[in-house]
Order: sequence, then structure tokens, then C-alpha cells
Amino acid sequence: MDSMACPQCQAQMNPKERSEVHLSQCSSCAGLFIPRSELGMLIEQENEWHLSSGPSTQPIPRIVPGMAAPPPNAEPRQARSYLDELFG
Ligand SMILES: [Zn+2]
Repeated sequence: MDSMACPQCQAQMNPKERSEVHLSQCSSCAGLFIPRSELGMLIEQENEWHLSSGPSTQPIPRIVPGMAAPPPNAEPRQARSYLDELFG
């Protein structure tokens, strides 16, 4: 992937590879650009990660109409997500 300018702040975006997923990250605002094909890979990897990481994590639920919002401050954040692990 060639270097590109950040659509938000026009700083240079640097190509990165995390777990075989190729993306670009802005050197200034840390914005991410992920090609559609890489996003599919990311989702597959996340699902696999949940399969192997035990019962304390689960995939991000799909947003559906009528879904109830979680109560505020329900519980302290404990389970790290796959995306946390990848970009955190
Ligand atoms: Zn930027």
C-alpha cells in the first residue's frame, strides 16, 4: 500500500501490518485506514480470537432495532477485546 494523506488532518499515513492485516495509520491523529478486504480478515481473526480466549469475552453484538442500551457504569471494564489487543 502506498503512503497516503490522512483524510482528517492531511498528515502522512504510515503503512502498518498487524497480525497479517495491512492498514495505514496517521502519524498525527492516529486515525486508521483499513481496506475493505483487510476488514473482512480482521473480523475473521476476531471471531477466532474469541473462540480461543475463553468465556470472559464475546464478539461485539450486532446493532439491531429495539436493542436495549447497557446500564451506565454496569461493571468495570475487564475483558479486553481483540481490537484492544491489536491496536491498544
Ligand atoms: Zn490524521
